[in-house]
Amino acid sequence: MAMSVLNQKTLSKPINISGVGLHTGKLVNMKISPAEPNAGITFKRTDLKKDNLIVPNIFNVTNTNLCTTVANEFGAKVSTIEHLMGAFFGQGIDNATVEIDDEEVPILDGSAKIFVEKINLAGIKISDTPIKIIKIDKKISFTDGSKFISIEPNKISLDIDFEIKYKNPLIGTQRNLVKVYEADLTDIYNSRTFCLYEDVEKLKQMNLGKGGSLENAVVVKEDKVLNEGGLRNKKEFENHKILDCMGDLYLSGCKIVGKVICSQGGHKLTNQLLRKTFIEKSNFSIIEIKQKNIPHTFINRNILKSIA
Ligand SMILES: [Zn+2]
Repeated sequence: MAMSVLNQKTLSKPINISGVGLHTGKLVNMKISPAEPNAGITFKRTDLKKDNLIVPNIFNVTNTNLCTTVANEFGAKVSTIEHLMGAFFGQGIDNATVEIDDEEVPILDGSAKIFVEKINLAGIKISDTPIKIIKIDKKISFTDGSKFISIEPNKISLDIDFEIKYKNPLIGTQRNLVKVYEADLTDIYNSRTFCLYEDVEKLKQMNLGKGGSLENAVVVKEDKVLNEGGLRNKKEFENHKILDCMGDLYLSGCKIVGKVICSQGGHKLTNQLLRKTFIEKSNFSIIEIKQKNIPHTFINRNILKSIA
């Protein structure tokens, strides 16, 4: 067991989850099953007869408008994958097959809470195959107007330093820094997607948010949260953006060692940064974490355990 935390993980048994898609409003059934080492995360659209496998990665992201959508070369797509991917990332699930009978992952309560609970309930199976990590070797930045994101080398952890700035007085400016492999991620997992009351109508006009309700999104009107019970944690808006960021970073396929700094970003900015980073091989290295080739910089074994 001492070393096994550095090995790839999958679920001990399948999980079934059903619910509506946030944007399509359709009922979706999903089954997440264990997968072999090095298989990674694969989506399988069971409603399509063929060409229905979609392997999410940063280069097959086809839409980042309000959620992250990935598609295969045949045009089969799956959307709103970010909260599930964030749960996989945080819980250390390297390999899993996600069968889904429609194009959008269920929104559930708008957070990753239920995904994480179901993963923990099923249990985690540890393989004999070592994990791989991506180590960022150069600082890369991407700017879009006042929005900014960068990734840079870091010793052992993945730090996400994220800031949001809203004109809305209740949301306002919030900033948080999370050390993903060391922190208690409960508040991150539990934080729900959110929108402004005045944007609800706009979403409907764009034919989006059809499954949206106070059951699966925090809705803010002026200085009030319309959801009964209010917020789940003080920085729920901010923490949800960090959950989204984790899910989008996991489209790189591995754990990342680096530091991400972002102001007012989202799915699009994170994807643009990752494309810019991974298009150039000298920006990063992939390390297989075997006991014998642990880089000398990874001196703190306790922290190393938490990465796996
Ligand atoms: Zn989200």
